[in-house]
Amino acid sequence: MKTRFAPSPTGYLHIGNIRTALLCFLYARKENGQFILRIDDTDEERSKEEYAQALQEDLAWLGMQPDQVYRQSERLSLYAQAVETLKKEGRLYPCFETAEELEMKRKLQLGRGQPPIYDRAALALTEADIQTKLASGQTPHWRFKLNNSTIAWQDEVRGAVKFEAGHMSDPILIRENGAYTYMLPSTVDDIEMQISHVLRGEDHVSNTAIQIQLFEALGATPPTFAHNALIQSKEGKLSKRKGAAKVRELREMNIAPLAVSSFLATLGSSNPVDLAASIDDLISQFNISHFSRSATQYSLEELMRLNTKWLHQADFNSIKPMLPVEQHSIDEDFWLAVRPNITALCELSDWWTICKEAITPDIDPEDRDFLISAEALLPTTLNDQTWQTWTSALKEQSGRKGKPLFMPLRRAMTGQDHGPELADMLPLIGRERITQRLLGNRA
Ligand code: GLU
Repeated sequence: MKTRFAPSPTGYLHIGNIRTALLCFLYARKENGQFILRIDDTDEERSKEEYAQALQEDLAWLGMQPDQVYRQSERLSLYAQAVETLKKEGRLYPCFETAEELEMKRKLQLGRGQPPIYDRAALALTEADIQTKLASGQTPHWRFKLNNSTIAWQDEVRGAVKFEAGHMSDPILIRENGAYTYMLPSTVDDIEMQISHVLRGEDHVSNTAIQIQLFEALGATPPTFAHNALIQSKEGKLSKRKGAAKVRELREMNIAPLAVSSFLATLGSSNPVDLAASIDDLISQFNISHFSRSATQYSLEELMRLNTKWLHQADFNSIKPMLPVEQHSIDEDFWLAVRPNITALCELSDWWTICKEAITPDIDPEDRDFLISAEALLPTTLNDQTWQTWTSALKEQSGRKGKPLFMPLRRAMTGQDHGPELADMLPLIGRERITQRLLGNRA
């Protein structure tokens, strides 16, 4: 069992393509198979090394280590061999129409109410015609001649899929400038790498129909196909161009990789969207038949919800590398005290300020005397028992209990109505600041 993720390095990975990667990864790991990363970089103009690097970093960040990495630009001789095979079989033919001519034909067909399918005019060219065109400096593009048949497969997500080859244009495999379109290298590599399961977005369904004929023309049995439904944002389809959430943006937002993978592994499936305990858990839960073909919505809020859940149980070592430089002195005690009260890591800085920098206490004039006696009763050394002993003594002395006892203390000590357990906050804020704040001084 072997899957492959085959991104084109023409932009940063977004939530849609990384989901395809994740499904390929989980499927392979579940079946004890291999997960291949293949960088589809035959488009020299649009492919950039920066993106090829970035996508590998993004995969690593999410904990998806590929078993092997290939680049199509290093495999051109394999594609050239396949071209020879197809030519020999009479399945690849040169065409000389310009883009304008093709556009004209298309408009005419549409005007006549016909589907805009390539009319195969180039098939009528004789060898002499071709030689004349070549001699006059024209360069051809090359089309794959589809067999007129019904192309059918059992898709692991979409069920039975059927296409009539007679209703499709013969696809261009090689452009005039000699560059390969996506179609042929992808098929050649899937054959050569012995990919058993091609899992990709549903935008490739009609390519699959064509590629099934290519597999057969190249003497190979097509793999199993699964086309996952695309994720949509509220504005519609996600695409690189439309500024969909990029993986690196999520990383910059300090979202935990496990929250991202838990979210993407369950989105569009019958499994509830929830935080998994680990990536291994996602692997064991994975089942391709749980995925549905209906479109799913990407929601940052839902992702944040999983991230908050992750934060609430994260140990100090896992969040330490995420802390910005100015918060490097945050320690485990602080983290454990504040953890239940934050929904995003950026909120840490507010509590850090409250513990380590001067704030103005929030004191109701009616509570002033109560707070002065609280100050007098505050034990000299603060530890995890202090809160208990201090508030018991204070309760007895003042006769206050419940909210009237605790709220003035909280407001004076933190300037806030809500927050982490005061028992934990006491030692974090420190005696000096607490004393000053209880007395109503900025400290
Ligand atoms: N390079 C193609 C893409 O990024 C790969 C599609 C496939 O998985 O075959 O859409």
